[in-house]
Amino acid sequence: MKATIVGGGIGGLAAAVAFHRRGWQVEVLERAPEFSEIGAGLSIQPNGLRALDEIGLGDAVRAGGLADPPAGIRRADGNWLVRNDVGDLRRRFGPWVVVHRAALVDLLVAALPADALRPGAEVHTVRADGSVVHSGGTSTADVVVGADGVRSVTRRSLWPDHPGPRYVGYTTWRFIAPPHPVDGSVEIWGRGERFGHVPMPDGRVYCYLMANAEAGSRTGLAALRDRFAHWHAPVPALLDSVSADAVLQHDTHELPELPTFVRGRVALLGDAAHAMTPNLGQGACQALEDAVTLATTVDSRGVGAGLAEYDRIRRPRTRMIVRRSLQAGAPAHWAAPLAAVRDVALPRLPAALFGRSITPAYVWEPAR
Ligand SMILES: Cc1cc2nc3c(=O)[nH]c(=O)nc-3n(C[C@H](O)[C@H](O)[C@H](O)COP(=O)(O)OP(=O)(O)OC[C@H]3O[C@@H](n4cnc5c(N)ncnc54)[C@H](O)[C@@H]3O)c2cc1C
Repeated sequence: MKATIVGGGIGGLAAAVAFHRRGWQVEVLERAPEFSEIGAGLSIQPNGLRALDEIGLGDAVRAGGLADPPAGIRRADGNWLVRNDVGDLRRRFGPWVVVHRAALVDLLVAALPADALRPGAEVHTVRADGSVVHSGGTSTADVVVGADGVRSVTRRSLWPDHPGPRYVGYTTWRFIAPPHPVDGSVEIWGRGERFGHVPMPDGRVYCYLMANAEAGSRTGLAALRDRFAHWHAPVPALLDSVSADAVLQHDTHELPELPTFVRGRVALLGDAAHAMTPNLGQGACQALEDAVTLATTVDSRGVGAGLAEYDRIRRPRTRMIVRRSLQAGAPAHWAAPLAAVRDVALPRLPAALFGRSITPAYVWEPAR
């Protein structure tokens, strides 16, 4: 049996590993000249680690160093808005991990035979019968996995009426700062803007900023330094510690709901199926869950029944997380006067209430 995977990001590579471990022939078509990821961090939450365990890579990822669950949310002046019980989260759900994206891609690539990897293969069209037209010819497979990201060609080929991604109104900057002391994984909310810092095991700090902005607008590092200059430590120092070329900016999108993730022999996975806002840090974790579930259901039930089961299992869960992710980030982007009400109200709410909206994502059991 053969699986052709369109897109060699985290989701596509994880799917390839999952099928390969079940004895399938796999082929990963990736348009980039090599398999790599952008220079940013990635938090892998307990459910993502559980999915990596299923493809034999959980321990290798944990060996890079464990991280604490998110410590909470502060105001720009440093006062806490929400403070999580980090120990309780760790006890209930297990450890978190923060990795460099490229390190995770390297691990996935190393788990695949070299002849499965086809960099420089740009896919043009995907057909429901399992044929894929790409720059190197036409591939055919028992199952085609559309793991080609938020602007998926697979989705455009077979879901031509879908409207495509929706800009949610805020843009994101990311960078990895040199080692710097920070008090855990913390998000800081201002008025329509926020800053997050996440310590990495080697002392470096994965940072992200988000701000309300017109789609496509671009802001450089100097303007960011000005904008966040009055925020509490360590925000200004972290921004001062990097050079402009280390900062990546991307607009934030989510994908309106699809009626199904499956057409014929083709299944969508990861951002191609359910791109979500990064507010819960769950996009890649969900892609990992998708990958493991797809290989299990198809391999154990046969192609037709397995794809139907994949769709039945994955659509409601990912929909729930897309929705919660959008909601979880919304108050960070309120402007005055709503933000002032938020700043008074949030510290008075029990932290458990806030936690309850995000913790369903952390719990996941693989399909058998
Ligand atoms: C700011 C930000 C922070 C985030 N933080 C986290 C986090 O902490 N934790 C987490 O779990 N998730 C996080 N995410 C989400 C996560 O990055 C994505 O959900 C995840 O990377 C999606 O993986 P994917 O493999 O589905 O798609 P992608 O990573 O987009 O991979 C798609 C691949 O397909 C290739 N491709 C595209 N078109 C073609 C074509 N026509 N032919 C051949 N190849 C093609 C691309 O080159 C790419 O390699 C974050 C996202 C953002 C924007």
